[in-house]
Amino acid sequence: MDETALRKQVIETCLSMNASGLNQGTAGNVSVRFEDGFLITPSAMPYAKMRPKDIIFMDMDGQAQGPHNPSSEWRFHRDILNTRADINAVVHTHAIYATTLALLGKPIPAVHYMVAVAGGRDIRCCPYATFGTQALSDYVLEALKERFACLMAHHGMIACGVSLEKALWLATEVETLAQHYWGALQIGTPEILSDAEMDRVLEKMKSYKYGRES
Ligand code: 13P
Ligand code: ZN
Repeated sequence: MDETALRKQVIETCLSMNASGLNQGTAGNVSVRFEDGFLITPSAMPYAKMRPKDIIFMDMDGQAQGPHNPSSEWRFHRDILNTRADINAVVHTHAIYATTLALLGKPIPAVHYMVAVAGGRDIRCCPYATFGTQALSDYVLEALKERFACLMAHHGMIACGVSLEKALWLATEVETLAQHYWGALQIGTPEILSDAEMDRVLEKMKSYKYGRES
């Protein structure tokens, strides 16, 4: 895909995450690998006002090129794209249910087999650190080990994929799981599927091509 098309796709991803209720206002941010760096949303700009020229190019040293400041979260976008060859796109949102669990520092355990779409037996919640800091990025990388999504305590969620389309798809799946889990917690205490069962599901999902393959 050429650069302008990719810039447009970044904006479409932002508009779509707000239209679907996955995010609100100027919260959240989006990035996609491009050449030897990545394209990332500018900081604090309403998505409806974004034009392709407003998207920032950043190299893996954190040098930005563009008319605005890059997202305040460029560190975790850079660190994920720099260390994970299996990821080309990163979506961060303050989705209501995922963030509700994150406010309590709660990971999403295997209460539903679909937790496996994020790559493992659970969806971790990393500890709190101030937004935009290297400390937050370090926590995020740890929580994303062998995973494609995580929650961030007192903050929100991150979903990743081989493409923007797949990252947005996974963000929607994580939010749905968070809503199911939240709902279950209102009326009881859900049982957690066994490690053996989740391993079976993870194996089966490889042939479903959920999310990670193009
Ligand atoms: P930016 O507008 O700087 O991307 O920040 C939004 C956000 O969600 C910070 O965590
Ligand atoms: Zn945020």
